[in-house]
Amino acid sequence: MSDSLAPAHPEVREFEATVESVDGRDVTLSETYFYPEGGGQPADRGMLGGVAVADVQSREDAVVHTLAEPSGFDAGDTVTGVVDDDFRTYCMRAHTASHVLYGAGRRLLDDLGYGGFGITDEKVRVDFETSTDIDDDVLVDLERLVNRAVWDSRPVSWETRAVEDARGDEGVAFNDKTEEDVMADADSVRVVTVEGWDEAACGGTHVSNTREIGPVTVLDRSNPGKGLTRVEFAVGPVAIDRRAETHRELRAAAREAGVAVDGVADAVSRLADERDDLADDLTSLREEVLVGRVQGLPTVDRDGDGDGDGDANDWRVGIVEGFDANAVGEAAQSVVGDDPDAPDVVAAVGGGPAPFVVVASAGAVDAGEVIDRVTAEFGGGGGGAPTFAQGGGIDADPDAVVAFLAEPEA
Ligand SMILES: [Zn+2]
Repeated sequence: MSDSLAPAHPEVREFEATVESVDGRDVTLSETYFYPEGGGQPADRGMLGGVAVADVQSREDAVVHTLAEPSGFDAGDTVTGVVDDDFRTYCMRAHTASHVLYGAGRRLLDDLGYGGFGITDEKVRVDFETSTDIDDDVLVDLERLVNRAVWDSRPVSWETRAVEDARGDEGVAFNDKTEEDVMADADSVRVVTVEGWDEAACGGTHVSNTREIGPVTVLDRSNPGKGLTRVEFAVGPVAIDRRAETHRELRAAAREAGVAVDGVADAVSRLADERDDLADDLTSLREEVLVGRVQGLPTVDRDGDGDGDGDANDWRVGIVEGFDANAVGEAAQSVVGDDPDAPDVVAAVGGGPAPFVVVASAGAVDAGEVIDRVTAEFGGGGGGAPTFAQGGGIDADPDAVVAFLAEPEA
């Protein structure tokens, strides 16, 4: 016996067979309903002669059952095989769902080709070869069409057809990347048909009606290679739980936004716009505050002539906290010389350790020279042009720097 009977009779869970060979933990049978790993579907689990089956593989015209421990039976013995019902049923549902998803792809995607397929305990992946961008809307539509096809209770059937006949039928999808085993027998091919929905060459196990699949939830989308889009989905408890989680998140978001579930996207978009507007307002208000603070810096009569008339020895000098050097520098330049009677120089010192200094001059004083004197006295670095200069990393208390700037040069 070479082929598994599982694809033709996927409903069989228990059978008797004669042991043909025993090689360590590897056993072959006169016939088997265990499905060997292949075509993207994992190997069946279960028991053989009371011993757990660890793996099932198709090797050189034989289905090899690898047991979890040595069996104790010999060639010629009759043994009972029990296919694990939960896992097989899951695989049948998941596998058939992939055909239904591909059928949905036929209705939504351009230049469609089969790029691959695989089942794990948690999820199923189908790789679409398509020129269509599977964006969120397309993804949701795929899921909607799949669940619609499940509800429509479409019969699923399988038949063996001549390869030439099947290949010549453009309606049949060929999964060449994972169905090498099926294709190896070159004169015939097994075609699985979801009535009115999809036809594909496939050697896996399937349910007999789409309604057996139950709810299907799309999990994610990715790009495993050029021209390929991978869609991952779940059936069964994983599908149900994921849907509940998504629903819970959506309701929580709606509650937070104070809107109905259908209005969440609009509400989030509105909130983002409001946030941007507020950020703009905040920026301009901070600028106004900063300019006000710089304008409010005390005027220092450095030459003591007492007239405060804006000559080159009357400076605005003081500490400006809460803003970075660049912002303070811009504010200082906008303020200096804004009034013929205003002081000729603005020298602002940042707060905190290692403060910065910015100096803006209307012209009579060289701002770069002022910064040079500060860094020569206190360290740090900086420089600039006659009308504007700045320094940073000053190794002094801000008050000491202010006091230094308020002193006339020696
Ligand atoms: Zn299949």
